[in-house]
Amino acid sequence: MEWKVPFVDAKQHYRRLKAEIDAAISDCLTGGDLICRHHLEDFEAHFAAFVGVKYAIGLNSGYHALEFSLRAAGIGPGDQVVVPAHTFVATVSAIVNCGSQPVLVDVCEDFNLDPAAFEAAITPRTKAVIPVHLNGRVCEMDRIMKISDRHGLVVIEDACQSLGASHKGKKAGSIGLTGCWSFYPFKLLGGFGDGGAITTNDPRVARMVTLLRYNGEDRKTGEYHYHGQTALLDNVQAAVLDAKLHHVADWINYRRKIAELYRAGLDRIPGLTLPHFSQSEHFDVFQNYVVRTKHRDRLREHLTRKAIETLVSWPKPMWHHKGLALGDLHLSVTERICREVLSLPMSAETTTEHVNITVRAVRDFFATRSAD
Ligand SMILES: *Cc1c(COP(=O)(O)O)cnc(C)c1O
Repeated sequence: MEWKVPFVDAKQHYRRLKAEIDAAISDCLTGGDLICRHHLEDFEAHFAAFVGVKYAIGLNSGYHALEFSLRAAGIGPGDQVVVPAHTFVATVSAIVNCGSQPVLVDVCEDFNLDPAAFEAAITPRTKAVIPVHLNGRVCEMDRIMKISDRHGLVVIEDACQSLGASHKGKKAGSIGLTGCWSFYPFKLLGGFGDGGAITTNDPRVARMVTLLRYNGEDRKTGEYHYHGQTALLDNVQAAVLDAKLHHVADWINYRRKIAELYRAGLDRIPGLTLPHFSQSEHFDVFQNYVVRTKHRDRLREHLTRKAIETLVSWPKPMWHHKGLALGDLHLSVTERICREVLSLPMSAETTTEHVNITVRAVRDFFATRSAD
């Protein structure tokens, strides 16, 4: 299908940045710089500065950032980790793969971890919490940190969707023990394949993760300190990400502008809820622009017929996937969100024309449904 409005446009993204990306790749390949060269170190230094922490360690996925954070925090069998039910499966799988028990709790109307539900879920076995800053919005981190400090819990931020976002002046990924990042191609900062990173101010964590990603080996001495994994951020990916990092501040401003255009166009349609939440203490970066309606499936079909590409994250609660063996839960906000959410096109390549077409199509849909 030829989309009139694509959800994201990887080809256009490359065309716009071709000179910089090609130069970065060519620099690595002509120099034979493939594994752990200065491109990786440079990117890590620049990324740490962007997030506002001492260390960034490049990894091959956001998943590994989560798993290594848990291992560095000493989380293992017998421990419980609180996690919001409305997140990407990797957040939960990292906990399970460490031998620990994920305790799924409900979220607020802004899609992020409900601090009260988090506190209510704490038991003597709880060791950590993973607040997920979903869709480009940071959780209520002051409340979450207070509760965690009171109970002696480790805080691991899943910041994969919130590069550059902040809450009360504190940036995503700089608040907990670690921040976990993904450079999956369609994240705000994406590579040309899988990639990720951990950010932290803790030198012990930084060193352990640096060894874990490279089979546990201290490359200076040749000593193996842990049973690690093969989980490096490729040097070539790092070079491309470093080139793209210069654009991130502009891309964030652009996404916020697109979000305002959607707001102006879609405001006050009965039955449609827009993702503009209290702003006084939040700086949102709109990794996704997620609207809600009871007529989600029919709205989506309508937009597809008009060649407008949309996404549903996620159509059913995670615990309904029986293979994940998460038990039978009842979390009403998450269940409702899964029935109602629809992500509209949002990226650095989304044009004002794309927004206008989408706005008109959504308005059409609701205009012809005014009876219910
Ligand atoms: C993208 C993402 C991840 C991890 O993604 P990878 O594909 O492993 O890089 C984790 N959590 C959230 C919320 C994400 O959006």
